[in-house]
Amino acid sequence: MGRIELKQVQKKFGDVEVIPPLDLEINDGEFVVFVGPSGCGKSTLLRLIAGLEDTTAGNIEIDGADATALPPAKRRLAMVFQSYALYPHMSVRKNIAFPMKMAGMDQAEQDKRIENAAKALNLTDYLDRRPGQLSGGQRQRVAIGRAIVREPAAFLFDEPLSNLDAALRVGMRMEISELHKKLATTMVYVTHDQVEAMTMADKIVVLQAGVIEQVGSPLELYRTPRNKFVAGFIGSPK
Ligand code: ADP
Ligand code: MG
Repeated sequence: MGRIELKQVQKKFGDVEVIPPLDLEINDGEFVVFVGPSGCGKSTLLRLIAGLEDTTAGNIEIDGADATALPPAKRRLAMVFQSYALYPHMSVRKNIAFPMKMAGMDQAEQDKRIENAAKALNLTDYLDRRPGQLSGGQRQRVAIGRAIVREPAAFLFDEPLSNLDAALRVGMRMEISELHKKLATTMVYVTHDQVEAMTMADKIVVLQAGVIEQVGSPLELYRTPRNKFVAGFIGSPK
């Protein structure tokens, strides 16, 4: 299960309202992309869902239960950070095992989950290497592996590919889409890249200055953009 509902969620930093109250529904299994220009509040919105920022007002529900006051570790959501967040001195196996070790999971269960994650990400042959001995794409897969083993209700990605060169980015987009198909788990993915949004999303949320301009499938946004901003951003002819 991985249904996330935002009800009149607002975020202020001091006196500055970065996110005016907004409603949003993310359905179980959906691949949802938050897209918009730099500074429009994409990361803030994702961090509110993750519990890394407190809401100023409003409620966040996960699978029908109020999660607004829950700390990140209790939300059953896994934030995927960019690959540079890996521990360079640890093997791939230990990097992937880290969250399970912290949670005190027994070794047999850890090994099973590592094996499954490695299989899903084609990392089986690289488990004993260190991040420095991997390509950029492989490192990014390890970062995803570390999220998979927690068996989260949803994955949250914040511009996970922005460090990678253009060719690798295309490959990783396909890898993440493939993983979404395999796992059928909700994914919320932040990017400022329209192509990424249009090619990966089931549902796109277009943001401007903290306001949701439109929500819809890539085709809906392309065919019937609600305003000039959406049309311009999505690259629609209208
Ligand atoms: P995006 O991810 O779309 O680039 P952010 O969510 O990072 O945008 O930022 C949205 C706005 O909130 C920006 O104006 C940014 O400067 C501001 N902001 C983000 N985090 C903080 C913070 N911790 N304190 C104050 N302002 C912040
Ligand atoms: Mg951001």
